[in-house]
Amino acid sequence: MFSNLSDKLLSIIRKIGRRGILTEGIVNSTIEEIRISLLDADVALPVVKDFTAKLKEKLAGQKILNSITPEQTVLKAVYDEFVAFLGRSDNDSSFRRGKILMLGLQGTGKTTTSAKLANLFQNKFKRKVLLVSLDTYRPAAIEQLKVLANNNSIDFFDDFLPGDTPIDIAKKSLSIQDKYDIIIYDTAGRLHIDESMMDEVISLKRVIQPNELLLVVDGMMGQDAVNMARSFNDATKLTGLIFTRMDGDSKGGAVLSAKYVANCQIKYICTGEKISDIEEFDPKRIASRILDRGDMPGLMEKTRSLDQASLQKTVDNKFDLESMEAYLEQLIKIGGLHGLMKLMPGMGKLKAQLDRPAFSEKIPFRQLAIIRAMTKEERRNPQMLNASRRRRIAKGCAQEVVDVNRLIKDFEMLKRVMSKKLANKKVSAMDLLRR
Ligand code: GDP
Repeated sequence: MFSNLSDKLLSIIRKIGRRGILTEGIVNSTIEEIRISLLDADVALPVVKDFTAKLKEKLAGQKILNSITPEQTVLKAVYDEFVAFLGRSDNDSSFRRGKILMLGLQGTGKTTTSAKLANLFQNKFKRKVLLVSLDTYRPAAIEQLKVLANNNSIDFFDDFLPGDTPIDIAKKSLSIQDKYDIIIYDTAGRLHIDESMMDEVISLKRVIQPNELLLVVDGMMGQDAVNMARSFNDATKLTGLIFTRMDGDSKGGAVLSAKYVANCQIKYICTGEKISDIEEFDPKRIASRILDRGDMPGLMEKTRSLDQASLQKTVDNKFDLESMEAYLEQLIKIGGLHGLMKLMPGMGKLKAQLDRPAFSEKIPFRQLAIIRAMTKEERRNPQMLNASRRRRIAKGCAQEVVDVNRLIKDFEMLKRVMSKKLANKKVSAMDLLRR
């Protein structure tokens, strides 16, 4: 996401370098280059104009403090403007109770996103959630939501009859609304915005009286997505947008323009097909990613759970292969080393390195399979893993003996770090990653 824009902006800003002063000439040429890269990223023209004007205002007559260089001054100004243009993050707790009507065109990821949101509320915020499908036009859509709900232990509303209309189903679901904190309604999409879809949405809004009307838009659509959001907002008064497919090579322009052009706040972004690939929209986090300052809030959130799990299983300062198993399970859960490294500052420059086999996303899975092919005794006493045992383990998990050897080497390295840190009673996931 944003990788092209990010590369261009950073190379423009780096060119400014450590020169002693930020002259009017430098400011003008930098702003012109930023203007072009924003247009290339498909950012809407009025946004580009306003963005560059504000940046210019901010940088004109800017005093360079001793502690920061002109490069850092421009970087900070661009970052602040991005945050301002992306809007505020207002996912307050009131949003975590009530009824949500999910809207959008067909194929934008509405059904998947309904399930992702339900899963987020249920697991992260411990709310009782009900999923309701109002897409009576495509039985497969109802089935799709039902399967997603069942697979993730989320309640699904199926107390309706084959001929029921979306309005009938919505009315029936309201009779059990007291049992739930949140009800999420997935509506029927169309290929294009049309009057019948808007009429249906308006009727559903009247019957359900939702607290939130969220429009799901495909991040790969570029400017069309923003224009569509504006039409929906004019017709229904949306309360927020959700951008999907932000894992693709979306240029990012639509996200940067949404608040300004559609006058609608982005609430969530989705970054993949998995149920957990959704995150609350945070302008600071996005601006940090664009400018490759790392996603520190995201990183902290992810490493917190890793710390607890790896420590929990580390009984009496003993780090064995069972502890490593717990550590690997957590690592996989939070997206692997790959996922973590992408959030670190300056990783943009090392993107190519992340694709090297050493950082393969498959490694934790492979290592876990190896540990699981061992006996309990072996996991607790890795020193007993002689050559014949290693051969048996490799065979048991369809790996090579070299893979088993590599795992044991990694384990020994990890153990050294752990025992050193445990002696100080201070260990963090970051320490493990730095090993
Ligand atoms: P709907 O017609 O709007 O309900 O769309 P679906 O929920 O059925 O999604 C259409 C396709 O997009 C499915 O294959 C989803 O797995 C996929 N999809 C949804 N969200 C994302 C996302 O954030 N990233 C990626 N890569 N695929 C997504």
